[in-house]
Amino acid sequence: MRLLLVNDDGVYSPGLAALARVAKRFGEVRIVAPDVEQSSMGHAITYTRPLTIKRTPIADLDAWRVNGTPADCAALGLNAWSGVEAVLSGINLGLNLGNSAWHSGTLAGARQAVLLGCRGIALSTATGDAEPDFQRLEPHVARVLEALLDGDAPRLVNVNFPREPEGLLWTRLSIRHYDGRVVPGKDPQGRDHFWLTVQPIEEVEPDTDRWAIRHRLISMTPLQLDLTDEAALREAAATTPR
Ligand code: MN
Repeated sequence: MRLLLVNDDGVYSPGLAALARVAKRFGEVRIVAPDVEQSSMGHAITYTRPLTIKRTPIADLDAWRVNGTPADCAALGLNAWSGVEAVLSGINLGLNLGNSAWHSGTLAGARQAVLLGCRGIALSTATGDAEPDFQRLEPHVARVLEALLDGDAPRLVNVNFPREPEGLLWTRLSIRHYDGRVVPGKDPQGRDHFWLTVQPIEEVEPDTDRWAIRHRLISMTPLQLDLTDEAALREAAATTPR
């Protein structure tokens, strides 16, 4: 089985190396990842300039770096390598829960794969003051890949690992609350500047990705590409003459 690995933290991320170590047990692994960090770039693709892909020696891995986004990497990787079974994106240094699905580069890497007819799995883990303990996480990553590389598994799945998983749960996105905020500050010259950052969400809906993480469970959320609001469509179509 051929597995293409991408991420948004950049080709030298320890999360990507950890994912490669586990993925190698399942098949042939190739890495195509951004040359610099592309976190929170969402599903951006590069079309105003050409892209390059360069061989990048990392341990004994077949690794390549691209001067583009995670979605670019998935597209270039799938273009260069035929017969890929799945694109694995991550392991991201930081959770991708709820509404972060809109700006997550990690998820976009997996979603681009699905757009191109391939299976896509996004993997992210909690970070704190210390780097995640990927060695401890590896058996859990293996368990998830075993489940999601199965033929009948959903085609696009967003996976989040708590620091010390105690189980696993299929979940939905926690979209009721948005954690994005703008924090103003001053630069050393006294000029205004702003950070786009997040605030912790306290309220957690049951059965969501955020709920799973809070209960030390690995969260697996199946996603679909169709963003159509079906209820609004039905209502609008029923009340608007053609
Ligand atoms: Mn990232």
